[in-house]
Amino acid sequence: EGKIAFKDVRFHYDPDRPILKGIDFEVPAGKTVAIVGPSGAGKSTISRLLFRFYDVTDGAVEIDGQDVRDVTQESVRHAIGMVPQDTVLFNDTIAYNIRYGRPDASEEEVREAARMAQIHDFIEKLPQGYQAEVGERGLKLSGGEKQRVAIARTILKAPPILILDEATSALDTHTEREIQSALDEVSQNRTTLVIAHRLSTVVNADQIIVLEAGEIAERGTHLELLDKG
Ligand code: ADP
Ligand code: ADP
Repeated sequence: EGKIAFKDVRFHYDPDRPILKGIDFEVPAGKTVAIVGPSGAGKSTISRLLFRFYDVTDGAVEIDGQDVRDVTQESVRHAIGMVPQDTVLFNDTIAYNIRYGRPDASEEEVREAARMAQIHDFIEKLPQGYQAEVGERGLKLSGGEKQRVAIARTILKAPPILILDEATSALDTHTEREIQSALDEVSQNRTTLVIAHRLSTVVNADQIIVLEAGEIAERGTHLELLDKG
């Protein structure tokens, strides 16, 4: 469950300016594909089409063989978890923020998700930033910690498909390494679409697609792409 297919997808926001010019790729259920390319290439647009924020201009996006236009937007978004590079948190406890995608989750399930994302130490804290005065329960979260809250939320929601947006991720290498294990955990056995700037961050993807100006310039494994220079 969770197979993704883009079939000759063309897309524009503005008819005068094609953004995606015939994108074809498949991600088998449980595998990871990384979309790499410079800013403006169309990477985020691909994730927006998968989410059905927009519909394709031509071609089709399919999940498990079904055209996403034939499914409700709600169920498409239900099937997809998103770990954005910049997570915006609600002005409530970290536990509340983790539970957001699945209000029915038990306290134990929330704790387990927090443990896997390595943020269990502070789930009763309030993220600082909305109000200056939150007293002892207030906690200023780093970018990496906020991202781990999004990871915990996704672990709890357990969607078959995951989008990891690290395109503009400004994390330092130490933080990056810290969250890598949490990311590995959450992408395990899940169809994963990684959006990234640099080839070096997507070493473990089953397939890498290099996107340039709305077209697939190259594709292959990390090793294959390195060989080509
Ligand atoms: P990437 O994620 O690779 O940086 P995007 O998919 O965000 O690229 O954007 C691809 C192109 O589409 C860019 O030139 C961008 O300016 C344009 N674009 C993105 N969103 C919109 C929008 N909502 N309306 C019009 N143009 C957009
Ligand atoms: P942008 O390039 O406009 O900043 P992003 O690349 O961050 O957008 O995200 C891609 C799309 O996914 C955007 O349309 C954004 O609104 C949406 N999105 C971002 N975070 C989430 C989330 N946590 N859940 C659902 N959709 C999200």
